[in-house]
Amino acid sequence: PVPVVAVVGRPNVGKSTLVNRVLGRREAVVLDTPGVTRDRVTYPAEWAGRSFTLVDTGGWEVDVAGLDARVAEQAEVAIDLADVVVFVVDATVGATATDERVVRLLRRSGKPVVLAANKVDGPQLEADAAALWNLGLGEPHPISALHGRGTGDLLDAVLEVM
Ligand code: GDP
Ligand code: MG
Repeated sequence: PVPVVAVVGRPNVGKSTLVNRVLGRREAVVLDTPGVTRDRVTYPAEWAGRSFTLVDTGGWEVDVAGLDARVAEQAEVAIDLADVVVFVVDATVGATATDERVVRLLRRSGKPVVLAANKVDGPQLEADAAALWNLGLGEPHPISALHGRGTGDLLDAVLEVM
């Protein structure tokens, strides 16, 4: 069976951008508005000669009041389906209460997690990524999904636990 790698995180942290980067094409929907990914969308993917199924998550509606709960709900379903979880955090924002909530789900799941500190577009933002050690999920991998910075190392880390 092909392993399932789920990309989870708050709206707008760059999950779909990362999925597109891994696929090497524009397929996952990227917009500035949160909540545009209608459902879990799965894509066949490959890195370093290994095949896996990549899952882009979203599915919550734009509903400010219920947003935290919806993110957590979606994340929980995706985590259940996954062999490996890539948890994406916006390093320029830092960990929010919603992020902490997803961290608790991740811990409970016992699934291997690779922490992606996204939007580290340049070396001046590395310190923001390092601050995410505080989440207790191990090494934050600084990446720029937009520019491709660090995404190879991130995928190597995924393969190691896959
Ligand atoms: P999602 O809601 O988590 O799927 O996030 P998207 O992939 O739709 O991205 C949300 C916004 O963040 C878009 O405007 C992206 O262009 C932007 N974005 C994603 N990755 C990066 C990145 O590495 N650096 C910067 N500066 N912006 C990014
Ligand atoms: Mg998306």
